[in-house]
Formats: sequence, C-alpha cells, structure tokens
Amino acid sequence: MTADCVFCRIVSGEIPGDFVFQDHEMVAFRDIHPVASTHILLVPREHIGSVQDLKSGDEEFIGRLILRAKALAEQEGVAERGYRLVLNCGVYGGQIVPHLHLHLIGGRKLGDSLG
Ligand code: 5GP
Ligand code: ZN
Repeated sequence: MTADCVFCRIVSGEIPGDFVFQDHEMVAFRDIHPVASTHILLVPREHIGSVQDLKSGDEEFIGRLILRAKALAEQEGVAERGYRLVLNCGVYGGQIVPHLHLHLIGGRKLGDSLG
C-alpha cells in the first residue's frame, strides 16, 4: 500500500470502486472516465509502478491478469466482436496513474491509430 496512490486506495477500500472482479492478487473495476461502454481496469493488489517494475517471477501473474481480462470481456459480452487490452508505461506511454493497470476496452469499433 502506497498512501498517495489512488489505485492502492481503491484496492484497500478507502476510495470506492465499481468492482467487477476481486481475488487474492488482483482487482478489476470500471474506469471513472470510460472511453467505451466497457472500460475496466485490472489492477494488482500489490503496488507495482509499471511494466518497468515487473521482474522475473511475475510471468504467471501477468498471464493470469490477461486471462482474467479475457474472462471479463466474455462476461461483458464484448469478446465476440473484439476488444483492446492496453498497458500504458511511463510518461511517453501515456501512463497517468503510476500503479500498473491493464485497460480492457470494448463495446465499439476502436480506431486503428495507436497514437
Ligand atoms: P493511464 O493513463 O494511467 O493508463 O490510465 C489511468 C486510468 O485511470 C484513466 O483511464 C482514468 O480515467 C482512470 N482513473 C483515474 N482515477 C480514477 C479513479 O479514482 N477511479 C477510477 N475508477 N478510475 C480512475
Ligand atoms: Zn499503488
């Protein structure tokens, strides 16, 4: 728990989140500013700053995070038409919240541009 981290505060329950999944190692909640009808953030309970802070041993966790995104896409009914998974990393990558999170975005045809 990092006291000034907004996602740590959501994980701990200090700030409310619209949760769609929780287990011992991750939570998933709806983005406060959704860019599509489904916009979910999958977040490790542990404070990991970004992809740059991942280390050897985290491979299976990251695999489970992606598989959970797949399951949530199916639960949301967006899997068949397709969806986007996004991991922004660092300032130039467009990361605003410095606690690793995987965006699951679906429900409309997204643009081809990656920025
Ligand atoms: P980033 O640009 O860091 O990859 O994305 C951060 C995301 O977190 C943004 O889409 C933003 O809307 C979302 N976000 C920021 N603060 C909060 C919050 O307090 N609650 C929720 N649910 N989402 C947040
Ligand atoms: Zn944090």
